[in-house]
Amino acid sequence: MLKSTMSATLVLVLHLFVLHLQYSEVHSLANTSAHDFSYLEFVYDANDTELEGTYDYIIVGGGTAGCPLAATLSANYSVLVLERGTLPTEYPNLLTSEGFIYNLQQEDDGQTPVERFVSGDGIDNVRGRVLGGTSMINAGVYVRANTSFFNQTGIEWDMDLVNKTYDWVEDTIVFKPDFQFWQNLTGTAFLEIGILPDNGFNLDHIEGTRLTGSTFDNNGTRHASDELLNKGDPNNLRVAVHAAVEKIIFSSNSSGVTAIGVIYTDSNGTTHQAFVRGEGEVILSAGPIGSPQLLLLSGVGLT
Ligand SMILES: Cc1cc2nc3c(=O)[nH]c(=O)nc-3n(C[C@H](O)[C@H](O)[C@H](O)COP(=O)(O)OP(=O)(O)OC[C@H]3O[C@@H](n4cnc5c(N)ncnc54)[C@H](O)[C@@H]3O)c2cc1C
Repeated sequence: MLKSTMSATLVLVLHLFVLHLQYSEVHSLANTSAHDFSYLEFVYDANDTELEGTYDYIIVGGGTAGCPLAATLSANYSVLVLERGTLPTEYPNLLTSEGFIYNLQQEDDGQTPVERFVSGDGIDNVRGRVLGGTSMINAGVYVRANTSFFNQTGIEWDMDLVNKTYDWVEDTIVFKPDFQFWQNLTGTAFLEIGILPDNGFNLDHIEGTRLTGSTFDNNGTRHASDELLNKGDPNNLRVAVHAAVEKIIFSSNSSGVTAIGVIYTDSNGTTHQAFVRGEGEVILSAGPIGSPQLLLLSGVGLT
């Protein structure tokens, strides 16, 4: 318990630090509102999904990256999202700022939205196990990517598209916080010790001191990536929860090896298969631990 309290305190301190070290032009942001669960109309329990299905895209992991990706692809393609965790409606305190620390301290019973693990070098850590992924349990600090990130990837990014993407994400789940006294005090202290320039309120990841956005609104309601599913086309989008992907199915031919589907189990242990058609793809967005883990389980990366 002492360890988890210390971890939670460290997260809070980091939250405070990041809040004042992060700063673009700020356009419109989201309005304070209830968490929007409209997407539930196309969410199913894996127990109720077919034993075999075919889609244009299969997305493994309904988390921070998986939900907006699914919504984007659903404009033109049929998409299946497979999420091992449950719905955030099962744990209402996920949706409150007070619930942030509580959930980080809760015992992990194998179903709870916070999965505990210890890294190879002995550091206690956590990751999300719920629709919305780690954005449903994190500290809610929002910042745009640093430009060096785009430069270092070696990819030719369409920055107009990137900026449009920021806009719809920010219009939906990012808020300008009512900064508290202690936060302003810390910002002033940073400026006094020379962390310059003073960038005011800004969402860009730039040098200096700034106040950044939050995915908690000013009523203390958490907003998260699951709400980005609401931007998808309900006719093309199917989300299965309690769907733990066990393996990627590969097919090889003369032109190489291709991922053509996945095997997943529901909460009764029943096995299902889903396949992609044509030029479709299996996309791994199971997190920085979950994605490589699944590749290893599928025989990729083993020596
Ligand atoms: C305590 C804490 C505080 C943080 N605070 C911040 C912050 O304030 N600001 C910030 O920008 N970042 C923060 N982060 C980091 C940030 O939340 C993560 O980097 C980010 O959410 C990861 O996104 P992702 O899409 O890669 O993975 P996730 O959001 O974790 O999504 C992966 C999803 O895949 C699912 N999954 C995994 N394996 C399988 C499988 N085999 N089958 C089916 N589904 C599977 C998981 O259940 C999960 O829902 C914080 C992280 C933690 C732990």
